Amino acid sequence: MRINENILISSLTTMRLGGPARYVIEVEKPEEIPEAYNFAITNKLPVFVLGYGANTIGHDEGYNGVIIISRMKGIQEEETADGTKLTIMGGEYWDNIVDYACKKGLTGIEALSKIPGLAGAAPVQNIGAYGQEIANTLQSIEVYDTSTGTFRTLSHDDLGFSYRKSILNTTEKNRYFVISITSLLKKGQMPRPFYRSIETYISANNITDFSPQGIRSIVSAIRKDKLPDPMEKASAGSFFKNIYLTDSEAEAAESKGYPVYRGKDGNKINSGWFIEHAGFSGKLLHGIRVSDKASLVLINESAKSYNDLAEARAEIINKVYDIYGYWLEQEPIEIV
Ligand SMILES: Cc1cc2nc3c(=O)[nH]c(=O)nc-3n(C[C@H](O)[C@H](O)[C@H](O)COP(=O)(O)OP(=O)(O)OC[C@H]3O[C@@H](n4cnc5c(N)ncnc54)[C@H](O)[C@@H]3O)c2cc1C
Repeated sequence: MRINENILISSLTTMRLGGPARYVIEVEKPEEIPEAYNFAITNKLPVFVLGYGANTIGHDEGYNGVIIISRMKGIQEEETADGTKLTIMGGEYWDNIVDYACKKGLTGIEALSKIPGLAGAAPVQNIGAYGQEIANTLQSIEVYDTSTGTFRTLSHDDLGFSYRKSILNTTEKNRYFVISITSLLKKGQMPRPFYRSIETYISANNITDFSPQGIRSIVSAIRKDKLPDPMEKASAGSFFKNIYLTDSEAEAAESKGYPVYRGKDGNKINSGWFIEHAGFSGKLLHGIRVSDKASLVLINESAKSYNDLAEARAEIINKVYDIYGYWLEQEPIEIV
């Protein structure tokens, strides 16, 4: 276990904002997790569990607490009658896992290619993209339960998955440290029809390879064109969540001319549509650029302070509400 002091949160998160964290502990084996929590208890400090920092934002005053990061690596593979079970340690980089699975011809997570972050964070907000979410294949996770001080297994059904949600970021927030995740993947390919933008890309480029590797290439190309690489441009999450509506809300929205998609996962309006139509696409607000390709994405071009981000966020949220009557919800978590 490595204990570091006064580390800038801006260096640990992809939005690159945030002052110093008092302590950052990197854990390399499960036994070190209770040691790290005990260190925080002894020093009377709160704990924040961090992964790659792709969905987390720091504040200027930093964090007077202990940030714990998993550095536990490894993948275990088990062939079962139902498919291949992959157990992945939480410190693995998520996209390496997708690459590994696709190379073995395993389907189930190929559309989740290039989502930045560590495997341990993947179930927290039930990562999703292009018609797949981790909940579709995740069977269980191993956790350290801070409320009982024990190691436990939580099954898929224990996790209460929905759009960008699980118990890990709602009812049981901060209770569990995710050690590893287990997904069941099968040989084969994703069923058609694929997500709209994949179908559009296939038609435009005459593509016929729909194997996991093929879909991974398509998704990677779409994302490269639309989304910033957080190593090159500072950003976090999709900054705003999409809006999910009940059937009657969807009808009301449609009657006002808003584009509602009725999919397997419910009725959805892409929040980016409101941001774009409110005139924000490509705009620079307080050093924060609203992406002109995906309006849900905010890029930190020159903001140095959390307040710059907060002001840009308020301008967008308030104007969208004034024009369309919907409050946009922020996706990234804040370290407070
Ligand atoms: C350019 C870009 C594109 C993105 N595209 C997508 C997308 O298509 N779909 C999508 O769903 N997300 C997307 N995201 C968001 C982000 O990639 C995911 O949320 C990812 O899972 C974050 O992983 P992380 O390791 O960076 O988590 P962090 O940001 O470090 O942490 C996120 C949350 O998980 C908790 N957490 C982290 N590790 C653990 C652990 N081991 N145990 C318990 N809790 C933990 C943290 O406390 C925090 O609440 C995107 C982000 C960026 C910057």
